[in-house]
Amino acid sequence: MRTARRISTSINLHLVQQTQRHTRRFALPPLPAFTYRQTHTTAHEKILPSPSEQAFNETHPQTTTTTTSTSPRPKSTSSIMPVNAIDFPELQACLTSNAEWAARVSKDEPHFFEKSAKGQKPFLLWIGCADSRVPESVVLGRKPGEIFVHRNIANQYQAGDDSAQAVLEYAVGFLGVRHVAIVGHTACGGCAAAYMSKPEDAGNKETTTSLARFLQPLIDLRHSLPEGASMDDLIVENVKRGVVDVAKSEVIQKQWAKAAEEGSEPVYVHGWLKDLSTGLIKDLLCSQGPDKA
Ligand SMILES: [Zn+2]
Repeated sequence: MRTARRISTSINLHLVQQTQRHTRRFALPPLPAFTYRQTHTTAHEKILPSPSEQAFNETHPQTTTTTTSTSPRPKSTSSIMPVNAIDFPELQACLTSNAEWAARVSKDEPHFFEKSAKGQKPFLLWIGCADSRVPESVVLGRKPGEIFVHRNIANQYQAGDDSAQAVLEYAVGFLGVRHVAIVGHTACGGCAAAYMSKPEDAGNKETTTSLARFLQPLIDLRHSLPEGASMDDLIVENVKRGVVDVAKSEVIQKQWAKAAEEGSEPVYVHGWLKDLSTGLIKDLLCSQGPDKA
């Protein structure tokens, strides 16, 4: 079995085991949707439903979110069971800390959320890894509204990835971000999977899972590196390749042409690396901008 497949199977098995543990621990009888708003009184309940939900409920009484209907669910959904997020202590803790955070922000900056709700003007598009240890706004010490984000396995930019393309298009074309940063990190699991793959895994077109398919370009990159290349070399090369590919993208090329024509500011593309052992981000000095000649 190919290494990438073994790893993806291992990841999937882990997720299945986690799900099974939760299911055993929190097994509940089928419940009508939204009943937790009636049956639980917690600090964050005060912020639900939102004004838009209230307005919707007032004009659509038959679909009110406080229904207690016990009508049976369709058989086609028998493998899916409604649960209450609030019954999971770890999620309850998240919602409680969210309410505390919102209160703290409002106290420090009374009109922050009011202004935030009116629109965003991020200056940076962060294309990073989905890894839980690299939360962009936290590690950069930025507030909500400053960084537009696309994160995926191993911070890859793939030209055929509609999700990444759409984010780039929107961030550059509509939001007008000034910078795009591809951000890798040490000990990246996606890069480790690619690094441990075998030479015969390069160019594999018979991948069967989304994870394996998404890792394939990284596996190909790994086997294009010189013999003796380390995993850190792969991590850095992945970022540098992303910078070049983003700079070559139609979105960036169009923006540069428009900026040159109008004499406005172009977008710049950068490559950064976060060291998980120190928390620090290093500039890989591979930034790209338009030719000024
Ligand atoms: Zn990663």
